[in-house]
Amino acid sequence: MKFVSTRGEAPALSFEGALLAALARDGGLYMPEAWPKLEPEAIAGLAGLDYADAASRVMRPFLAGDPCLADLEIVLEEAYGSFHHPAVAPLRQIAPNRFILELFHGPTLAFKDLAMQVVARLMNRALLRRGSHTTVIGATSGDTGAAAIEAFRGLEAIDIFIMHPKGRISDVQRRQMTTATEENVHNIAVEGTFDDCQNIVKALFGDLTLRDRLGLTGINSINFARILAQLPYYFTAAVGLGAPHRAVAFTVPTGNFGDIFAGYAASRMGLPVARLVIATNLNDSLVRMLGSGLYEPTSVVATSSPSMDIQLASNFERLLFELAGRDAGRVRSLMGELRKTGAFRLNDAELASLRELFAAHAIGEHETEMTIRSLVEETGVLADPHTAVAVAAARAESGLGSSPMIVLSTAHPAKFPEAVERASGRMPEQPERLRLRLGQHERCALLPNEYGAVAGFIATNARAGGKSGAHGRRRTEVRA
Ligand SMILES: *Cc1c(COP(=O)(O)O)cnc(C)c1O
Repeated sequence: MKFVSTRGEAPALSFEGALLAALARDGGLYMPEAWPKLEPEAIAGLAGLDYADAASRVMRPFLAGDPCLADLEIVLEEAYGSFHHPAVAPLRQIAPNRFILELFHGPTLAFKDLAMQVVARLMNRALLRRGSHTTVIGATSGDTGAAAIEAFRGLEAIDIFIMHPKGRISDVQRRQMTTATEENVHNIAVEGTFDDCQNIVKALFGDLTLRDRLGLTGINSINFARILAQLPYYFTAAVGLGAPHRAVAFTVPTGNFGDIFAGYAASRMGLPVARLVIATNLNDSLVRMLGSGLYEPTSVVATSSPSMDIQLASNFERLLFELAGRDAGRVRSLMGELRKTGAFRLNDAELASLRELFAAHAIGEHETEMTIRSLVEETGVLADPHTAVAVAAARAESGLGSSPMIVLSTAHPAKFPEAVERASGRMPEQPERLRLRLGQHERCALLPNEYGAVAGFIATNARAGGKSGAHGRRRTEVRA
């Protein structure tokens, strides 16, 4: 299978090519040239399989004819072997016909482990096969970075640089990243917001000289491989509740639109999805767009669900490509407008097509707290604030008939202990593996919100440039 850019001006790549490139050279995002289909019998056949086996069946059509295909099974087994629940992504009922899909049983207690553990291993194997080396860069509003560092630490063929907005992620999130001691791990605290960090990442990718010299690649959900590794749990959860004979709905706590886009992809592959509900916190640019057709990201508001404190949802470009009938010229023109004027407007056909499958609700801080409280009182389930936003959005959604609603639970409550205790009066129990980790020494560089400073730091410390061997490496160290 080939992968094409949403902006139509970069060469089509193999899966391995798209895996290693992340962002396309024209600034677009890679998409499969067509959606492979799983027939109803194949979907039904996922019932009762181990998670890794089911994941392999869902993912392999995208890797057809690719050298990565031979790695897939072993990678999935290793990746999900590090999870702390034998089902990997178990379902739990919270109300009649309403369920929570627990995606937080991985090593960093957030759903991003499900994809990152797979993508890191696929990348490392592809690089070793090619005899090359790469530099992974990423911006994180919290969980992505922790999951990425946990997945990439110690890999032979990869250096990883993760930027986070200084002081804007939780203590637990920061310590999960900065306590990794491996030589190939570099944390950067940027004096700015998550969107600032993300803009620096985009600018680094836009600097084609630097990009080629360091072999830059990304782990943010702009990498299609991450989306792909998030597809299987939509299938396993739906099959557990009666698919393909019964349609199901999903509510997804949404930031960068990667996770919910995987739900869209699952529906394009043939999973019967009755509705996809976008749940946001006060950063509601997607919710406003569903109402009016106008996409107009504003400045970011800090909330108790920091991994969703995002206004510019990078992966929405993928859906835009689909809504526009895969017209890359239309995507270029809308993205150009967004860059120039700070907004774009969907036409009537695009908006109608969006509303066919998607709904959206924004949830305020008070309602998030009340939801954490009522959920634990009614069911004993202690939800983190991201999950609570989605539970509240699912409650607001109606008219689904008999379709079960599956709410994606994206973080363990122990990752956000203060917010959870404030809302519920209960302190979530901290898993032993987290407690041991958080007590360790932190290592992190502090840099201004300037492209040049970050680019210089990366160029100096990355091994892939060939300029500085392991001995000549300089490292700016700041105690966090
Ligand atoms: C990343 C993240 C999200 C948002 O997922 P996107 O794919 O960026 O939409 C939601 N909740 C948690 C806990 C996350 O870490």
